[in-house]
Amino acid sequence: MKSLIKNFLVFFTVFLLMAAVFSRFGGAGQKAASVGIETLVSQLNNQAVAQVAIVGDKIELTLKNGQSQTVKKEPGDTFSQIVKNFNIEPAKLSGVKIEVRADQGLDYWLAAILPFLLPFLLISVFIYFMMRSVQGANSKALMFGQSQAKEAGREFKGKITFKDVAGVKEAKAELAEVVEFLRSPKKFSEVGARTPRGVLLLGSPGTGKTLLARAVAGEASVPFFSISGSEFVEMFVGVGASRVRDLFHKAKKSAPCIVFIDEIDAVGRRRGAGLGGSHDEREQTLNQILVEMDGFDPNTNVIVIAATNRPDVLDPALLRPGRFDRRVILDEPNLADREAILKVHSKQKPLGKEVSLKRAAERTPGFTGADLANLLNEAAILAAMKNKKIIDMEDIFASVEKVMLGPERKSRILSVKEKKITAYHEAGHAIVAHFMPNADPVQKVSIIARGQAGGYTLKLPLEDKHMYTKTEYVEEIAILLAGYVTEREIFGQVTTGATSDLRRATGLARKLITDYGMSETLGPRTFGEKDEMIFLGREIHEQRDYSEKAAEQIDKEISNFIDQAVHQAKGLVKTRREFLEKTVAALLEKETLEKEEFESIVGEKAKAE
Ligand code: ADP
Ligand code: MG
Ligand code: ZN
Repeated sequence: MKSLIKNFLVFFTVFLLMAAVFSRFGGAGQKAASVGIETLVSQLNNQAVAQVAIVGDKIELTLKNGQSQTVKKEPGDTFSQIVKNFNIEPAKLSGVKIEVRADQGLDYWLAAILPFLLPFLLISVFIYFMMRSVQGANSKALMFGQSQAKEAGREFKGKITFKDVAGVKEAKAELAEVVEFLRSPKKFSEVGARTPRGVLLLGSPGTGKTLLARAVAGEASVPFFSISGSEFVEMFVGVGASRVRDLFHKAKKSAPCIVFIDEIDAVGRRRGAGLGGSHDEREQTLNQILVEMDGFDPNTNVIVIAATNRPDVLDPALLRPGRFDRRVILDEPNLADREAILKVHSKQKPLGKEVSLKRAAERTPGFTGADLANLLNEAAILAAMKNKKIIDMEDIFASVEKVMLGPERKSRILSVKEKKITAYHEAGHAIVAHFMPNADPVQKVSIIARGQAGGYTLKLPLEDKHMYTKTEYVEEIAILLAGYVTEREIFGQVTTGATSDLRRATGLARKLITDYGMSETLGPRTFGEKDEMIFLGREIHEQRDYSEKAAEQIDKEISNFIDQAVHQAKGLVKTRREFLEKTVAALLEKETLEKEEFESIVGEKAKAE
């Protein structure tokens, strides 16, 4: 906005200057005094005029005494008309020289041309300024051929090393080899070992792929060129490929070094499977990466590290030997890893003495490194908001729930009736979860709205779990449906509050049948082939590889699972009605029950065998 005003001011000044110059020019021709028509008439009558020159709309008079004067006339009027109109006797004109000259004054030309010229002038000035401001923003587009790889690593401040990456032991061990190779390549070439060329880091988002790649560069003290796959994909076809060329060119010059391609799935997608217009560009970019990696001579110490969370969509050509033949998997952190990651991130944060990172780790199954880093940050913010100097356990637990379920929405006021329904709904979940032998223990029950949920029941496994049995899944479905079942038992009808529970229960039941082969009637097979085509960030394609009849059976089987679960849940709600009522009463009074409070009502959870 500021620059717009500035531009306008500049333009305006130029305009004023131009106007001044023109009026000067115009003034040069007007040395003569300007007089009215009546003066002209009287001077003619007095025979004081020696010469009359008619120039356009002006009459220039030269008087006998040598003075000159100009008279403006109406454009239509001719000199002879004036003579006639003012009844000047022809005899009085006899001694006067009369000439008619073409108007060639500057103002004449300006008057003639300016109406045509001005719009052009204005438009070109406008375009000029437009171009200038666009160029500012887009000057990068003019250098599109160059990669925007950022170099970091060698001596850069706050160098990241393996110490900063907690957990992921196997990955670090694998990458230690790469570090060793970058440090002393001779050792390897002497025994004829082919050195690794490309390393592919695989792991879900937030597991520390980018962090680990930086750490490798930091450990080896070599330059680190990093570029993200999405940066290759640009408006113009061919730009990606030329960026790749440029990137590798730079890298080869500063070998030994690391080239890090983040989010390689953005370009490395299986070729020919593209959807939408940009896949040509992707293919070219990918081809160029392959060409560059093949073109290294064996002694170039450039190691390409790429990261992705979608190995399934990568082009097989990327994975063949000599390219990204090393694959390093970053698992989601287990209990011990989570504690270690929390420790790394709590270094800069003043924690209270009673804070146990182990307990925080226990509460956060399924959290990735990024989630954990975020969790501690949220806790620090919470502590600061309360004007505390240290972060205590309460802050950490509160932010666990915030990260998991979204912020509390205390402002959402429930009517007395809604509150009662929510209390029964959540108490239903909690009671059924508590008395299901295989379910995880309930940590917290609350009827305070959080994120999308009206209330929530939080249950967490005691240890990391990787495998689930059919029994556990069916119990899980029963717990999901417990809110619905309780509402029906108590109020005779259900509310919209159970919608998402129903959706999740149905989804889980379907998965049991189609993905896990847990249905007795349909047997050990999967149904439906999920095609990894991503369109607008969503999988749109599920190929049906089963018959219409099977589809019907799946539907029926889903209903069977759901019925079974409803039956189980209903049984528990009926037999433990007394506990349910007590829990509801406590919830209505306190709104939130911690594990201890809940267990003081229902007793300790019985362990499953
Ligand atoms: P990815 O690239 O796998 O999506 P990042 O490497 O960008 O994940 O991780 C994001 C952030 O999460 C890191 O900057 C770091 O703060 C934190 N983080 C992730 N994994 C770890 C880990 N294993 N140890 C310490 N911090 C981690
Ligand atoms: Mg990343
Ligand atoms: Zn529910």
